[in-house]
Amino acid sequence: MVVMPGGVDIHCHIAGPKVNLARKLQPVVHRFVVHPRTAFTRSGTGGTVPSTFATGYRYAALGYTTAMEAAVTPLGARHTLEELHDTPIIDKGFYVLMGNNVLLYRLLKEGRMEEFREAVAWWLNASRAYTIKLVNPGGDEPWKGQRNANITNLGEEIDAFGFTPRHIIKALIDAANDLGLPHPAHIHCNNLGIAGNYETTLETMRAADGRRAHLTHIQFHSYGGDFGGKPISKAAELAEYINTHPEISADVGQVMFGKATGMTADAPLGWMLRHVSGNKWVNADTEHESGCGIVPFNYSDKNYVHALQWGIGLELFLLTKDPWRLILSTDHPNGGSFMSYPKLIRLLMDKQFRLDQVRSVNQKAMAQTVLLDGLEREYSLQEIAIITRAGPAKLLGLRDKGHLGPGADADITIYMEGDDKEEMFSTPRYVFKDGQMIIEDGEFRTDHAGRILHVAPDYDPKIEQVIQPFFEDYYTIQFENYPVSETYLHKHQVVPTASQEGRIK
Ligand SMILES: [Zn+2]
Repeated sequence: MVVMPGGVDIHCHIAGPKVNLARKLQPVVHRFVVHPRTAFTRSGTGGTVPSTFATGYRYAALGYTTAMEAAVTPLGARHTLEELHDTPIIDKGFYVLMGNNVLLYRLLKEGRMEEFREAVAWWLNASRAYTIKLVNPGGDEPWKGQRNANITNLGEEIDAFGFTPRHIIKALIDAANDLGLPHPAHIHCNNLGIAGNYETTLETMRAADGRRAHLTHIQFHSYGGDFGGKPISKAAELAEYINTHPEISADVGQVMFGKATGMTADAPLGWMLRHVSGNKWVNADTEHESGCGIVPFNYSDKNYVHALQWGIGLELFLLTKDPWRLILSTDHPNGGSFMSYPKLIRLLMDKQFRLDQVRSVNQKAMAQTVLLDGLEREYSLQEIAIITRAGPAKLLGLRDKGHLGPGADADITIYMEGDDKEEMFSTPRYVFKDGQMIIEDGEFRTDHAGRILHVAPDYDPKIEQVIQPFFEDYYTIQFENYPVSETYLHKHQVVPTASQEGRIK
């Protein structure tokens, strides 16, 4: 058998207001219980956005024991924590949206950088989040101000603020590093999905200026071609940058053919996609914190753009050299469900299977990639263990996860070794969480409540004197009701910042 630590998903969308909105938008999928109640587990509904209970059980059934919800507004933190509490088995946390926060923009505009950092620390505490998330930084202001407007490059001035997305990106990368957060700023770059966006992605990585930063679902940001025109692959250019810049890490955001749900805090993107999908859609705005767009979606292997996206994801996996810094993800449910991870693993481990698939999808798209050029690389079991658990655990600063050494959390997955890697990774023989056997031969033997993982960086309480008046002027709720209280946390674990860790030692 093959013994691995439990899987760690560094980027998915599984809880909170936008996830619930996506469930409500697709009632047909949630009409029927697909996971009936058993002696040990609760019932749940499925689809690309499963119910909370089904989400926890499905992750556990794949051998994943930790997952991070990737985009939550501070105002949505309470709702998110309630849902995460209802997501069984796995440990989990969330990233809090700060790239379009109006008060932080004011501090940045006035050059009050010390207060900016204190406010970031206050917000991480108030929302019980794990790290800072940026989504299309600067994009919300033109979106709110002028119909259908968006940021197109990092040097563009944001209406009314007189600075650029580059300033925000740099300021938040610095804040995460200065606060010593266990995971750096987690960045969804500008221009997602738009041809020519790879230059924006390169610019964003350069803005890190040697400091740690994590770029998420980088596949969606790897397109060449005329801006807004027909995309081509620039995976090789981005892979080269990542290969030569150890401070940069990324997850792929692989597209898998079939049903998906576009779900993003990138409101202008949601608006753009409504034309592309022809489906029903929702846009929402959360006061001074972020926007949101949801579009049910279907990826077809006959479609040039979809096949190209699929191919670019595979190119990124095959062309980057350090598996510790390029993590497996589908940006669930945006590129596809996390349930497709076993198939993705087979595509990486089995070059003949991959080539057969490459030959069966849109060939004009494949001709734009290097996938027909006889790429020999096959991921080893060791490398799969890195991109699905050891790597994400290390990037998240979770010292007790992603390995089987002394002191590690006893989150363990045991697979029967087999030639068909999809089958092997779909059906672990045993899954242990915190030392307890949860799954045996594909059957749940018990239920279990995982922990909320969050940070609590130190801050100067005087910063509340800056935040509170803004609240009273502009927010719909009272300041006292805003920070999330201890009672919302249930089982939880504070993951220390660098300086807090230093004090412990
Ligand atoms: Zn995402």
